[in-house]
Amino acid sequence: MDTTLCPDCGALAEVQWRDVMESTDGPIEHAKIMCVSGHWFLLPVEHLVQPTPTPVERRRSPARWG
Ligand SMILES: [Zn+2]
Repeated sequence: MDTTLCPDCGALAEVQWRDVMESTDGPIEHAKIMCVSGHWFLLPVEHLVQPTPTPVERRRSPARWG
């Protein structure tokens, strides 16, 4: 699951979907997020914040194991 932080309250927020939207600068990928407090936002994915600064990057990729 994709998670980020709520721009409003700073709580953990879930990325519900992403979509590419046209803008004056060209198509930009946006994400709809909703936090645990019920706030939701539609914002460019580049504005998404990493939930926690993890010292060790533990990648759990959805990749196929064989
Ligand atoms: Zn919030």
